[in-house]
Amino acid sequence: MANRAPTFSLQRIIFLAVSLVLCVQVGWWISVQIRESRRLLEARSQALQASRAEAWQLDSLRILNAIHARPDRSSRVGAVEGQLPALPSLEERRQAIQRKYPHVAVVPSPLSPDDLALLDGAAFLSLRPEPLAELRNQRWHSVFRATTEGAFMVIVVISGLMMLYRKLSEELDLRLRQRNFTSAVTHELKTPIASLRVWTETLFTRTLPEEQRTRIRILMEKDLERLNELVGNLLDVARAESGSLVLHLVPLELGPWLRSVCEAMDQRLGAGELGLRLEFTSEPLWIEADPKALGTVIENLLSNAYKYAAEPRETTVTLDGDGDEVLLVVSDLGHGLAPKDLPRVFHRFFRVGDEMTRQVAGTGLGLFLVKEITARHGGKVQAFSRGPGLGAAFTARLPRIPRPEDV
Ligand code: ADP
Repeated sequence: MANRAPTFSLQRIIFLAVSLVLCVQVGWWISVQIRESRRLLEARSQALQASRAEAWQLDSLRILNAIHARPDRSSRVGAVEGQLPALPSLEERRQAIQRKYPHVAVVPSPLSPDDLALLDGAAFLSLRPEPLAELRNQRWHSVFRATTEGAFMVIVVISGLMMLYRKLSEELDLRLRQRNFTSAVTHELKTPIASLRVWTETLFTRTLPEEQRTRIRILMEKDLERLNELVGNLLDVARAESGSLVLHLVPLELGPWLRSVCEAMDQRLGAGELGLRLEFTSEPLWIEADPKALGTVIENLLSNAYKYAAEPRETTVTLDGDGDEVLLVVSDLGHGLAPKDLPRVFHRFFRVGDEMTRQVAGTGLGLFLVKEITARHGGKVQAFSRGPGLGAAFTARLPRIPRPEDV
């Protein structure tokens, strides 16, 4: 996993940059929409102002025309004022203005400093407040629409990007883990094979005392066991993935069976090396299980408790009933796990740390198998740790069944 950090940070930087560009784009689009709506408002209110000026012009023309239509006062010496054609009344003019310019009101005194006094000072022309208020309303509506549409766009695109980012991260993570797995498996195969070759050569080329031959035989058996375990795990994983991992479930009293599996494993790992303590309830606990497959679960958990703890080890296996479930816990006081790694340890090929610097042999398949097999038994497995250096515990919950004789 040497390249892991830089690759992920590069990915994160690209994601952040794209999100930032998108936010800026959408922000710019919103500001354009707001500016446009402001411009529209101004244009419309200017048109209204213009209509007030036009109304004033129309009224002034009417008055002037009416005055011009009157006969010249000088030629009408002695004429009676009352006989002259009357000027249009204010009410007539108001109606004429109203008909043509419905947004303009004729008011007795100005309502705003922009109001225009009629030519004869009889009244003022003011804009009605409703059309202006409606214009402002429309503007807020368009601003609100632009903002919500922009926010929606941002949310949709960022969610899409996040999904893409997560998918890519998963893909990348799987590729890195697969690469690590290949080098781990190569190492796991090469080491016992090389060791077996050395022992075989030694046995065939030299005459050795019986005691030394026995010691070499034990070491060769260990190497073969290691190879056998690895191949078994690989086959089980392949079967679990293709769905062809067939379990032969039988009623099993867990206590005695678990004791024998733990003790056999303790012997295999080197008597006493695990510092094994068994804390079993005296209550008989029955489950439906495939003893071989469930044995793989226990062996993997104990093998990890051995691998990921320094001497002197302290490993505890607890067995208890919990309602209609059986609770099985394998805990150690070893290297422990960081909180972020707790759910990941069950992923295929996942191993904590860097393959190049890692000391402990492994392939990252053990806990994946533990999870798959437990799930196939209708159970669930979880990892706990108080942090690096503080040990780890793995709990498996399996459905309990009544004792077969009681059914
Ligand atoms: P392997 O042991 O072959 O690497 P596993 O799937 O069994 O693969 O474990 C995955 C990883 O989880 C290990 O590489 C190790 O980093 C971590 N791990 C598993 N068991 C323990 C444990 N008991 N204590 C600390 N770390 C553990």
